[in-house]
Formats: sequence, C-alpha cells, structure tokens
Amino acid sequence: MATRLDLDGNPIKPMTICMIGAGGFIGSHLCEKLMAETPHTVLAVDVYNDKIKHLLEPPPPEQHGGRHPWDGRIQFHRLNIKNDSRLEGLIKMSDLTINLAAICTPADYNTRPLDTIYSNFIDALPVVKYCSENGKRLIHFSTCEVYGKTIGSFLPKDNPLRQDPNFYVLKEDASPCIFGPIEKQRWSYACAKQLIERLIYAEGAENGLEFTIVRPFNWIGPRMDFIPGIDGPSEGVPRVLACFSNNLLRGEPLKLVDGGQSQRTFVYIKDAIEAVLLMIENPNRANGQIFNVGNPNNEVTVRQLAEMMTEVYAKVSGEPPLVQPTIDISSKEFYGEGYDDSDKRIPDMTIINKQLGWNPKTPLWDLLESTLTYQHRTYAEAIKRAIAKPVAS
Ligand code: NAD
Ligand code: UDP
Repeated sequence: MATRLDLDGNPIKPMTICMIGAGGFIGSHLCEKLMAETPHTVLAVDVYNDKIKHLLEPPPPEQHGGRHPWDGRIQFHRLNIKNDSRLEGLIKMSDLTINLAAICTPADYNTRPLDTIYSNFIDALPVVKYCSENGKRLIHFSTCEVYGKTIGSFLPKDNPLRQDPNFYVLKEDASPCIFGPIEKQRWSYACAKQLIERLIYAEGAENGLEFTIVRPFNWIGPRMDFIPGIDGPSEGVPRVLACFSNNLLRGEPLKLVDGGQSQRTFVYIKDAIEAVLLMIENPNRANGQIFNVGNPNNEVTVRQLAEMMTEVYAKVSGEPPLVQPTIDISSKEFYGEGYDDSDKRIPDMTIINKQLGWNPKTPLWDLLESTLTYQHRTYAEAIKRAIAKPVAS
C-alpha cells in the first residue's frame, strides 16, 4: 500500500483505533473502509458482530488463499461498555478512540427514556474519562438532533421568515438547541447527547482532551438497523429507511407519521464515511471541532421520501408499486405517548468544508437505488418464506 498523505501533504502513520459500537451500521462501514483503504488497525468493540462478520471471518480458500488482505488488522472484542473493566486497557492500547455506541432509534426515546439517557450519557462517561486521563484522542458520535427544532418552526405558518435560511439552517457554532417540554420524552436522547457534548468540550477546555464531535444528519445505506421479524424483533420499530424497506418488501403501504410533513436531508453512508476518514487522518484540522455531516442538497419531506422509495423499489425489484402506497398514522399510535419531532434539518457545511474540504456527492435517487437493491437482494426471499410460513397456533 502506497504511503497515505494527509491534507497538508504529511505522511500518515499507521494507527490503532479502539472503535466502540463497531458492530453497528456506521461502525461496519467504517471498519470496511479502514480495512480496504488504510494500514490502520481496529480493535472493534461491540456486543454484536453480525454486520462485520465478513471482515472477521476468513474468506473461502480460493479467495486470496483463504486470507483477507487486512488479516491481523482487525480484532473483535465482545464487551458491553456498561460494565467491563477491559475497556480502559483497550483505550490505552490505542492511539484514537471512536465512540459510536448508543441507543439511537427514535421508537426507544419515549418508550425507554432511562435506557436512552444511560446509554447516551452515563455509559459514555468512562470512555471520555479514560481518553482524557490517558492523553488519548477521542472522536465521539453525537447527533443532528441536538439542534432539536428550528427557530422558524415557532413562527406563524404564513410568516415569510420561515423561508429565510437564518431561521432554519443548523450551524455548529451559532444555532441554539431547542427541545420540547420534559413530558415529550422524545428529547431524552437529544438532551443526553447534548450533555455529553458539553462534557467533552469542557474536558478539552479544562484538561486538554483532544476531541472531535460528529453530528450525523440521517446517514443511510445498506445494513442500517434491521428488518422486523427477519433479523430483528417482529414488534421492533427501526429508523425510517428500514421501516419503509420492510413495508416495501412485504407489499404493505408505507406509514406516514402525522402525515409525513417533517423534512429531512439524507446522506449516503459511503459519502459520510469519507468525512470520518478525513477526521481520523487529519487530527490537526479535526481536533477541537464539532462537525455537521450531512447532505443539504438531499432534502425531502417524509412523504416525498416514501413516494421516491416506492418508485425506486418498483424499478429495482421489478414488482409493480402498490395501488395505495402510503397511509397516514398518528404519532401516538405509531410511537406512543411522548413522541415529538424535529421539523427540518439542513446542515450548514461551512466548518467541515473549511477544515476538511469535504462535500457529499450522492443524490438521493442514486443512494436509494443502491440501498434498495441491497435490501431486495438481502431480504426478499426471507420475507417470502416468512409470509408463507403458517402461524403457529
Ligand atoms: P447502530 O445502533 O447501528 O450502532 C450502535 C452500535 O453500538 C450497535 O452495534 C450496538 O450494539 C453498540 N452498542 C450500544 N451500546 C453498547 C454497549 N453498552 N456496549 C457495547 N456496544 C454497544 O447505530 P448507528 O446508526 O451506527 O449510529 C452510531 C452512532 O451515530 C450513535 O452514537 C448514534 O447516536 C449516532 N448517530 C447516527 C445517525 C445515523 O444517521 N445513522 C444519526 C445521528 C446520530
Ligand atoms: N417516520 C414515518 N414512518 C415510519 C418511520 C418514521 O413517517 O415508518 C418518520 C418519523 O416520524 C420522522 C422521520 O420519519 O419524522 C425520520 O425518522 P427516523 O426514525 O429515521 O429518525 P429521525 O430522523 O427522526 O431521527
């Protein structure tokens, strides 16, 4: 492998990365990228490893003589960071820690608020402390949800200022964090993430912790979450990409929560991973920064997303779209008491552009086409078998 250069033209030394939550959606793509394109070593920490098995297990003997080109550069450590004393040792052995571990599905925020707060705040505390005490760099995954609602959402519906970007674009160093009342437990996640961000920032200011905070804006792609009843609980409610994929695979209408009026910007996981790799390999440009990572050009309402996914799925599966592709459902019925929503999420890209020169590339249609091709190839047969199976009496 040729020596890699950072953005300032300096050679990048191979490093050891302790990646906590490496078995999840983002972790699996980041591990793939690090194995395929860099010389770095990953200590992959998680309670599950299904999504990175293809990197851990040897390939068949006819492929590369039964060895991956990255053999010996990835190790899986099955541990729960809540209660495992091995964590500090792994952080000490590494040059950099990346913390992805979290409960991060909205269906949990109002129904399991304690688990959500513990997972996103309390369980992250030892990670921050070990990094700070041992002088190790930390890249911590927060969320765009720390911004909460836009300022514009509080203006009257017909107020022209709602169209003014000053009232909705979300900027790391200027926008306020606006959450709903405590009884709207949806905000338990955003609030826990905000407090861990503030703690990390304070560790940087008072104790010199070298940190980078990432705020992902709806990263989507293959291996996101699970398909209920196939590789996850039948009653489970994943994030919107997996909910809509599940509906499409089963030939059911897509459920639009409260009419699907909320707006989101979706970025392709592979574009977003490029940004994370730039942060990993350019500490001088990334340390002390909070980065929005999203695609402001891919904005849709949830209803538009449902319509586009229906069209794309018909194309990639060869199956005709449903006559009634969507149905409306109240948030109370879908998520239960205490749900609330972010109205609109447009990331300001100034800081990541200036520091890392990163820009997202993939348009929404293209990323949905590759993702739904994967969903169809991975799940369509299993769904057919599950539907055909008689229900046990
Ligand atoms: P994910 O649920 O797929 O991955 C999280 C991983 O952490 C899982 O594999 C889980 O098993 C692991 N984990 C959780 N608790 C753990 C514990 N106590 N010990 C060990 N492992 C544990 O989620 P993701 O989409 O990959 O998200 C990763 C991070 O990015 C999270 O912090 C999330 O809040 C943040 N984020 C993601 C998005 C997105 O668009 N995907 C958006 C906003 C924020
Ligand atoms: N949503 C929906 N139908 C579903 C799942 C989600 O209408 O089957 C909506 C949800 O209410 C929210 C948006 O889709 O407005 C995005 O939800 P997601 O779970 O992906 O996470 P969020 O972006 O809110 O963090």
